[in-house]
Amino acid sequence: MTTIPSAQLNDGTAFPVVGFGTYQITGEGAVAAIVSAIECGYRLLDTAVNYGNESLVGEAVRVSGVDRDEIVVTTKVPGRDHGYEQTLASARGSLKRLGLDRIDVYMIHWPNPRVDKYVDTFRAMVDLREQGLVRTVAVSNFTERMITRLIDEVGVTPAVNQVELHPYVPQPELRAFHAAHGIRTESWSPLARRFELLAEPVIIDIAAAHGVTPGQAVLRWHVQLDATPIPKSEQPERQRENADLFGFELTGDEVAAISGLQRERRPDYHPDQREEM
Ligand code: NAP
Repeated sequence: MTTIPSAQLNDGTAFPVVGFGTYQITGEGAVAAIVSAIECGYRLLDTAVNYGNESLVGEAVRVSGVDRDEIVVTTKVPGRDHGYEQTLASARGSLKRLGLDRIDVYMIHWPNPRVDKYVDTFRAMVDLREQGLVRTVAVSNFTERMITRLIDEVGVTPAVNQVELHPYVPQPELRAFHAAHGIRTESWSPLARRFELLAEPVIIDIAAAHGVTPGQAVLRWHVQLDATPIPKSEQPERQRENADLFGFELTGDEVAAISGLQRERRPDYHPDQREEM
């Protein structure tokens, strides 16, 4: 089992530097796959109302035998639940499905700027924190401008922003903004979901130089950018591989070479454009 270190969030809580994504882990075998990830050493589990697997994540936490307080469970408010009262109700639903008495990290899944209710949604999350039902308030897919609005209008800085981040979308400006405001960057689709990334010659060469796999080279790049990647895998061997990132270090040139894979971003995933309910 790998011991994954933690970073400290701006609210003083610990947040692992590598977590486990659960999107599309549903149905038969899902609980076993998540328990296997916990056994590999993952202590940060990422779910959402829209993944339809909160109950499976909660069950995995219980059957894993690991102390509940050692595991950080993230879930997310979906677009259709934006608004103050709706968010309070959405949290109650998530708590019930998870079967837990606290959501460790609660995120706004997408800002949905045309709906324009993310400020009230965040206010409700801060009140849920006051009530002890949420430990950390966070966001996902927020731009610098949207986060600035939360800070100005609610007076609370989200502790984490979970965003699309991988070598094709390295997000240097957003990461610099996070660093300046004490916000932890969390990387979704850290392997770009596609095997194409892991077949890039630059990744293959760097991995070979360290005697690691292409996936490990990419995930180590995230760790050295001070971002928490949350790779998803249902295969125990890959789960182990994706957590085993602490026995080697990339050089500054290697980090820069991987960042050099940047491509133009798909507009349909830009938070200014995308609406997810
Ligand atoms: P990902 O983690 O980048 O990639 C997952 C894919 O890569 C799966 O097909 C997996 O297959 C494969 N894989 C995993 N490890 C591998 C390895 N070492 N070598 C080769 N292939 C490997 O993509 P993702 O699931 O989209 O993103 C991760 C998590 O981010 C999600 O599960 C979810 O929790 C979160 N997310 C959040 C948002 C958001 O809007 N906030 C959006 C997207 C994702 P196997 O399972 O067969 O191993």
